[in-house]
Amino acid sequence: MYADVSLFIDGTWTNAVAGRTIPVVNPATGEPIGSVAHADRPDLDRALDAADRGFRQWRKVSAFERSKLMRKAADILRERADAIAGLMTLEQGKPLPEAKLEVLAGADVIDWFAEEARRAYGRVIPARAEGVYQLVIKEPVGPVAAFTPWNFPINQVVRKLSAALAAGCSIIVKAPEETPASPAELVRAFADAGVPAGVINLVYGVPAEISEYLIPHPIIRKMSFTGSTAIGKQLAALAGLHMKRITMELGGHAPAIVFDDADIDSASRLLAGAKYRNAGQVCVSPTRMLVQERVYDQFVEGFVAHTKTVKVGDGLEAGTTMGPLANARRINAMESLIGDAMQKGATVRTGGSRIGNKGNFFEPTVLTDVPLEARVMNEEPFGPLAIITPFRSFDDVVAEANRLPYGLASYAYTRSARTANAIAAAVEAGMMSINHHGLALPEVPFGGVRDSGYGSEGGSEAIEAYLNTKFVSQAGL
Ligand code: NAD
Repeated sequence: MYADVSLFIDGTWTNAVAGRTIPVVNPATGEPIGSVAHADRPDLDRALDAADRGFRQWRKVSAFERSKLMRKAADILRERADAIAGLMTLEQGKPLPEAKLEVLAGADVIDWFAEEARRAYGRVIPARAEGVYQLVIKEPVGPVAAFTPWNFPINQVVRKLSAALAAGCSIIVKAPEETPASPAELVRAFADAGVPAGVINLVYGVPAEISEYLIPHPIIRKMSFTGSTAIGKQLAALAGLHMKRITMELGGHAPAIVFDDADIDSASRLLAGAKYRNAGQVCVSPTRMLVQERVYDQFVEGFVAHTKTVKVGDGLEAGTTMGPLANARRINAMESLIGDAMQKGATVRTGGSRIGNKGNFFEPTVLTDVPLEARVMNEEPFGPLAIITPFRSFDDVVAEANRLPYGLASYAYTRSARTANAIAAAVEAGMMSINHHGLALPEVPFGGVRDSGYGSEGGSEAIEAYLNTKFVSQAGL
């Protein structure tokens, strides 16, 4: 079922020139399931040359035609959703229904950007002199280098790929080596829809080697990265040195604030559901549940009860609601963060340990009484780990929510419109969802502030990142 994954360069599926490959492992079994081609410099040079030629051709294709090809790719992706979901679960671990939803959501993202492609309007500015036309024109920025992680193998690629194509850019995607087959199937859908050779190129290899080569390269005009804040800062510095446009979607440590007038049952159910989706390996995952004192015990009880209903298992088995962690590094991270918190006085309300010794299974875990100096209160856990902490007043909880340098997602639960308005204004974050989990649709902005990065990967803002603004002032002869 799982075939070896090739590079896609200049419209052709190809092995790496040097023939090197990287093994791919099923995180549910720890067993190898295939391999992915490992690009070196000669492969990257071919991809750069193809992206350069692809850009010259694609930018001339009308927005109307680009939009049509993209919608066709979305339809192909939908038709293949079942098969692609199976590959995704095998390589990433998430439950099959979640994998299928991700593929279908990917098709929706393509459709959204296909529509935006036709609306990349410029404008006409009234001139001071008669006979002068002042035109603002939007042009594609040029060939893009995109770096995407393993937690959402399709979703992370499709946002960058669709925005780039909609704007008229070509792209080289460095997709995740750990989950290579599902992004390859996404690219295949575009290729089969008729996107010309060179417009989309797909490579895998050593991430640092590829980013160090592509970002400074004169052919590349823009870079987009999704991953950790630490790596994002390094890549942003490199891009800055070479004056490259960038979009940065980095880590988070989302506060979820539950006021004592909220519907506590609903808050604990929705937040626990969001916490364990994709085994917590989600940049917008709620991590610090900050709960007002009066309802703290009730919330902890409800959250722990919901946590205990999570069914951990192989994502291919019916009924599984949480799969294994995507790689062994996450197991080590969970054990180390939980060990540190316990040593500093935290209480484990449920979970806390690895399950078995085959595959990367970990118990959904709830910690309380976690002191601020515990690492988990400061580092993104990126796993199935929730922290619940009481707070007294509005000002106290705002101070805690804004204590960390991250500013990606945030959540609040309250029945008061006044509190809802006040908390949305006070929390420093790129996104806030109140009384429900309403983030990450294609048509709404998606992005962070401060150490969580900058730029948006959703909404009408997203295509702007792939466009240059040109001003033309024209007088009559
Ligand atoms: P990591 O920081 O080494 O890698 C994160 C991602 O960045 C991976 O996809 C990796 O291939 C890529 N990467 C790493 N070094 C790179 C480089 N020099 N150039 C280009 N790409 C590079 O660690 P990891 O173990 O894979 O993940 C750990 C942490 O990364 C998590 O704790 C989480 O904070 C973060 N992460 C965030 C997201 C997200 O959606 N924002 C996704 C995956 C991982």
